[in-house]
Amino acid sequence: MKKLFELVELEKKRQNEGLELIASENFTSEKVRKLAGSILTNKYAEGYPGKRYYGGCHYIDEIEQTAIDLLKELFGVNYANVQPHSGSSANMIAYASVLNLGDKILTLSLNEGGHLTHGSPVNFSSKHYDVYHYGLKDDGTIDYEALREKALEIKPKLILAGFSAYPYIIDFATIGSIAKEVGAYFMVDMAHIAGLIAGGAHPSPFPYADIVTSTTHKTLRGPRGGIILTNSEEIIKKVNFMCFPGMQGGPLENIIGAKAQSFYEALQPEFKKYIAQVVENTKTASETFIKLGAEASKTETHLFLLNTKKSYGITGKDAEALLETIKITTNKNMLPKDDERPNTTSGIRLGFAAVTTRGMTKEGAIETAKIIHDFLSKRINATEANKRVDNLVSTLRAIDSF
Ligand SMILES: *Cc1c(COP(=O)(O)O)cnc(C)c1O
Repeated sequence: MKKLFELVELEKKRQNEGLELIASENFTSEKVRKLAGSILTNKYAEGYPGKRYYGGCHYIDEIEQTAIDLLKELFGVNYANVQPHSGSSANMIAYASVLNLGDKILTLSLNEGGHLTHGSPVNFSSKHYDVYHYGLKDDGTIDYEALREKALEIKPKLILAGFSAYPYIIDFATIGSIAKEVGAYFMVDMAHIAGLIAGGAHPSPFPYADIVTSTTHKTLRGPRGGIILTNSEEIIKKVNFMCFPGMQGGPLENIIGAKAQSFYEALQPEFKKYIAQVVENTKTASETFIKLGAEASKTETHLFLLNTKKSYGITGKDAEALLETIKITTNKNMLPKDDERPNTTSGIRLGFAAVTTRGMTKEGAIETAKIIHDFLSKRINATEANKRVDNLVSTLRAIDSF
């Protein structure tokens, strides 16, 4: 259908002409996109390599086994399942593998940086499980002391760490030891930071975590999808059975092929350099805002939070809409102890994984922060801001050139 392909071209133009600062997005390589759009989508392959419910899976088995082996190598782990269709599905499967309905889980709330699947009232996770939350200190870092006290008090069956809007290194060793102390499973959802861990910029959840879930499309720079990792033979058996036939049917082997390619790319030395550049760009941008007098969080990762209400007198929702008029894509985000509603918020989340894939340097990160600051504080108008965005984008690579 012609219209669909015209819309793809328009979306490609939008991606090329803008500055993509949504912290959960990235740009995939041509090989990843080729595999994702390949004839592998034609094949039914319910089951696992060597144990399929359909014939003709000889090559598919090799592709899926390659994905599993590369993933195990990438994170230095014993067992992996590459079939979850998304990060949310991976979490659903992981919970169901080690928990019974109604079991207690202890997580960080969505408002403080967690994810919908970490027990939000509107999500299955709060309906299936008995959810309790730990919180952040005033400086925005996890209150590990209070986490321990809460864990001792409620005796959860599972403690979860790994977030969507947390700009600091997570102390997996400490949370792991608290989980051990109270006899809980320790689950890590590394959806946002998987690329940082693979690239050596964030400590690994292993050997502390019992079960680890992730997306593959954020900092890991693969196709849209999910994965589950563990060092426990007992847990992987439960995960595999819960994934299929428990919750999913046929795996998306085209996406699994693309996942394998992205794991291969993440194992190359260039990926380490890329991740180091992401962290440097993010830190530079956060420091630039602070230097300019804006209220931004510090960062040790690929993202930080900008308090637009305190800095510019506008809500996160309005800042997101204003920035879109100058082709800068961001998302409104709750800040720690935010007094606005989740669909309004007091700030935005900014991430540099995607623009760094396009070759953004430290100088580009400084200019990005300056454009946002100058525009939101009304030092420049939309015409001037657009010009500066165009100039900056002209220094970046096209999104289908790698
Ligand atoms: C993005 C994210 C997910 C969900 O991923 P989807 O693929 O969108 O379902 C889960 N957990 C965390 C922490 C995330 O940031």
